[in-house]
Amino acid sequence: MIVNLMSDTVTKPTAEMLQAMLQAEVGDDVFGEDPTVNRLEARMASMFRKEAAVFCPSGTMTNQIAIRVHTQPLDEVICDHYSHIYQYETGGYASNSGVGINLIQGTNGKITAEQLQAVIKPVFDWLPISRLVVLENTCNKGGGSYYTLEEIRPIRELCRQRGLALHLDGARLFNALVETGESTQQVGELFDSISICLSKGLGAPVGSVLIGDGEFIRRARRVRKVMGGGMRQAGYLAAAGLYALDHHVARLKLDNDRAKRLGEVLEEMDYVETVRPVRSNIVIFDLKSPFTAENFLNTLKNRGVLALPFGPQTVRLITHLDVSEVMIEHTIEVLQSI
Ligand SMILES: *Cc1c(COP(=O)(O)O)cnc(C)c1O
Repeated sequence: MIVNLMSDTVTKPTAEMLQAMLQAEVGDDVFGEDPTVNRLEARMASMFRKEAAVFCPSGTMTNQIAIRVHTQPLDEVICDHYSHIYQYETGGYASNSGVGINLIQGTNGKITAEQLQAVIKPVFDWLPISRLVVLENTCNKGGGSYYTLEEIRPIRELCRQRGLALHLDGARLFNALVETGESTQQVGELFDSISICLSKGLGAPVGSVLIGDGEFIRRARRVRKVMGGGMRQAGYLAAAGLYALDHHVARLKLDNDRAKRLGEVLEEMDYVETVRPVRSNIVIFDLKSPFTAENFLNTLKNRGVLALPFGPQTVRLITHLDVSEVMIEHTIEVLQSI
């Protein structure tokens, strides 16, 4: 048995999802004529009570487009130092948008309004202009931590007072919403733009959606084109996203619960130094010497369990759609046998 816990991006479309893709009605989306893409965009916009949305190849692209549309060169983006836009997007904020970045050392990837207030820059010729705040929910490098609406509201209010835009990197937003019971409409009220990945826990093969008001999305479409993200018969991919929204949202709770079980097992193990609090479908833990991420991952791999190194002595496990109950039990057995 191979249990792939490297990422929730490794899922393959189910037979039913493939059927939905095969049956998709398609057209040329660069001309706005793919009915399935149009349906996905309209549905995502209305879920968040926003005016419009744009379908893109990746979450990196939706984030990069959002940064580009919200900012001007010489502005800066403010985010936690664990943020995907800083850690894992190849420094794109600088090359795509010509902006700087102002990092906050939050807690498990989450910042507070007080921390934000302390770093917003005054306007002087010699300072970058603080223009955009990006929150990540759930936060990957933060171990799948999430914000509640209560925690976001003071940040929203401060952004409003200081004239900053607020973008949500919601690659795994639904993993948070199945925990909090909060709604997409409530989330939509708090952000100027929202990025959602269909290719993570939701299990679609490709695709992310950027959501915002009409003028924002009109500009986003131009930026998507210049980045090479204008796709033609993309309805085959959008159909997978629509299928995922219908069938793969509620089950994310199962992934979260399984990750929590793995976390509880790891807490008990002698070789584990610390486990970051497991809040959703991500488990990040530090190993004690003589273990390194490398030799530990080799040990796991020999027993059919694949995971990702997240530092010299740090390992990440992610649960997802293609991990069954039997696979979780096997993983627990392996973890307990080391
Ligand atoms: C995966 C991810 C993205 C986007 O990644 P792509 O691989 O480009 O789709 C953005 N933000 C977070 C937090 C992610 O985990």
